[in-house]
Amino acid sequence: MTRFARVVVERGIDRAGDSADAGLTYGAPDDVHPGQRVVVPLGRGDKLAAGIVVAIGGAELLAGLSASRVKPIARVTPVTLTPLIVKLASWMSDYYVAPLGMVFGTMLPAAVKKQTGTKTRVYVDRAPVAIDTPLPKRLARAWEQVQALPAEAFPTTPRALAMMLDGVTESAVKKLIENGHLLATSKQEVQESRDWLMDCANAQNASSTGSAQAAGPLALTEHQTAALDRVAGTLGTFAVHCLHGVTGSGKTEVYLRAIEAMLARDNPHNPHNPAHTSTAIMLVPEIALTPQTASRFTARFGDRVAVLHSGLTASQRHGQWLACAQGSDSGGGRVRIVVGARSAIFAPLRNVGLIVVDEEHDSSYKQDQLPRYHGRDVAIKRAQLEGCPVILGSATPSLETWANTKQAPPSANAPAGTLPSASKYILSSLPARVGQARLPPVQIVDLADERRLRALVQPEGWRDRHLHLIGPTLEDAIGQTLTGKGQVLLLLNRRGYANYICCTDPKCGWVMQCEHCDVTTVYHIDRRLKAGGFVRCHHCLAELTLPASCPECKKTINTFGLGTQRVEAELERKFGPSHALAMGTTLLRLDGDSMQTARDYFTALSRFASGQARVLLGTQMIAKGLDYPGVRLVGVISADTSLSFPDFRAAERTFQLVAQVAGRAGRGKDPGRVIVQTANPQEPAIVLAARHDYVRFADFELAQRTESGLPPIKRMARVVCRDVVLAKAQNAAAEIAGLLREFEADLGLRVVGPMPCAIARIGDHHRIEVQVTANSRTAIQRAFASLREQGLLVSDAHTAVDVDPIALL
Ligand code: ADP
Ligand code: ZN
Ligand code: ZN
Repeated sequence: MTRFARVVVERGIDRAGDSADAGLTYGAPDDVHPGQRVVVPLGRGDKLAAGIVVAIGGAELLAGLSASRVKPIARVTPVTLTPLIVKLASWMSDYYVAPLGMVFGTMLPAAVKKQTGTKTRVYVDRAPVAIDTPLPKRLARAWEQVQALPAEAFPTTPRALAMMLDGVTESAVKKLIENGHLLATSKQEVQESRDWLMDCANAQNASSTGSAQAAGPLALTEHQTAALDRVAGTLGTFAVHCLHGVTGSGKTEVYLRAIEAMLARDNPHNPHNPAHTSTAIMLVPEIALTPQTASRFTARFGDRVAVLHSGLTASQRHGQWLACAQGSDSGGGRVRIVVGARSAIFAPLRNVGLIVVDEEHDSSYKQDQLPRYHGRDVAIKRAQLEGCPVILGSATPSLETWANTKQAPPSANAPAGTLPSASKYILSSLPARVGQARLPPVQIVDLADERRLRALVQPEGWRDRHLHLIGPTLEDAIGQTLTGKGQVLLLLNRRGYANYICCTDPKCGWVMQCEHCDVTTVYHIDRRLKAGGFVRCHHCLAELTLPASCPECKKTINTFGLGTQRVEAELERKFGPSHALAMGTTLLRLDGDSMQTARDYFTALSRFASGQARVLLGTQMIAKGLDYPGVRLVGVISADTSLSFPDFRAAERTFQLVAQVAGRAGRGKDPGRVIVQTANPQEPAIVLAARHDYVRFADFELAQRTESGLPPIKRMARVVCRDVVLAKAQNAAAEIAGLLREFEADLGLRVVGPMPCAIARIGDHHRIEVQVTANSRTAIQRAFASLREQGLLVSDAHTAVDVDPIALL
């Protein structure tokens, strides 16, 4: 053996040191190249494992091993990662302190790894040199016809060829193959199966966008034109754009035009781009990937669009992935644009010319398991590697992005390998809604006033047994809207019926907690159960039954607090008889419990879009990207759910949620109306969201963060040590804190902890954390890299390293 490969096994162990150096050495056949997915024998038992080839070379890869002891690669799979993706993986592994093999494993969809739905297909072509074996008459006539066909007819399948010819069967074609007149090659393909989301999207195109298309291209507004020009001016180079535009201001139109402009550069005479196959990646939050979104892209770009979403079957996913890989490969494929959720940033497109991250502030871009990457930040890194612009669009940009629109350009000698966020982002704003549409007026309603109001309207001596989550103001507005044939959208960011189960006797004070976690449990109604419901822990998913009485004092139990199910019941009670509001038909609830699959979600949305459902109630799922002109009233049941979180981003989340959901009203001709119920009517996040004043909120909040030394002004990372034995978690965290403190002086790190996490125990594991903040990402990276090299910091089941954490629970 003289040719060797370095293979990084997927889901491998975290190796200390430089990830480019990681991997194990195997003997490599000639057809193996870097980026290829291979299967290799591991350890003494030669257990087979899949991995990615990161380097090919000679004896230098042996690193002291004797060549005779090196095992050969067992199998070569047809999956290959491009060199750029391999580079991206290596950056992610360093930046997010994650084993490189684990990063590779995340980049490839399971269906691609399993090669789900692969079929071998035979293609035929004419032999390049004339064959003069005499043929029987029947075959000779067939061969004559084959020769008369134009070159474009090939390669084709034997069956299709037979159909092109007169009186020739498939078996005659096969005979021509046997005789050497036709050459057969086999190719692995994924069986085409229809994607229902695309079907829905196409159906929507036919009905709704048809008229818009017929009217010709929209004339862009002045602000849209300015934004588009800025993006177009950076095509072919790396640049980060922040497109801040209120909901309905025409951001999506800017994305579409920017992609068009990028594709238009692909003409053969364009000296900037001789490859003629530039492609685009458009990321959207998973939940915002509706037939509506897909249809806007397919209406513009037809079958050049591939959509990656959670509703795909495994073979469809594999098929879409391959279509991306092949589409941009030879220039012969169809796919130029991929629209998808977080992991679509790893789509195997080549020559990416533009990346768009829509709703860039959305927390679903952050993966909450290893590797804990942020899709937006990986998108920025990929754009840098591709040398193309990236657009971060939002009505409520994350403060990370906003702060970068204000920073000075980086110094030329910024260390390599850092996120290019220190560079100045180019800001474009779309300050108003397009056309006649106006942002809706938002009314803040103080829940304390509402309770007083409710008491006033009740007859004296009347005792109300019900807990009202919908106050009189919102209740009136719902009634009026339904009477006026409008649709209503109601937001409550909490699932279940009641999130607090306790003893009715305050002296007893018993509260139902999860046995395995330090949290209270949530009561869910389930009419299929004999008990009528169950209690669940939202962290470890343990299920319990509701005790008949308090286990401590035997008094009755109270189910207290908020939940979408409780609002659902209240709506049916209040509007069922008067407005024919019934659960599951005219009243729909969208949350993680009612929506098991992407398909449930899309079905519910289309029922609302058709007008059949009148009220849509849900968690933040309904706050994103929905555009229904029939919505006249948006109600926020409680703006306080995210405000009380022990997380420095609580205000930012609250602002985003209220502003986003408010943006769902007034999409049609009617301006609509928004009512926000809160116990904190003076809270700046709520007041400013009600005024649709993002800029003031962002600047206010940035000032607060600067004062308290928090992200995005500082960088943060978090290490959580977990163990069933508390002392072990404490010791591990103390050790890491000690090691990190050694860098405090040199790198300007600030280390906080060890301390118990906000949720100190989940699934029987105690959780102790260490938080690190620094002025620059590089400082944190250096400290982590140094510990990693020495094997002192390893991401594993006991240690979760989260760089740029977005949730601090
Ligand atoms: P956003 O993505 O900011 O929410 P959209 O791009 O969805 O905004 O635009 C909102 C609506 O306005 C859409 O129905 C879109 O077709 C329409 N629209 C966008 N730009 C224009 C324009 N320049 N002229 C007319 N209508 C437009
Ligand atoms: Zn639990
Ligand atoms: Zn009790």
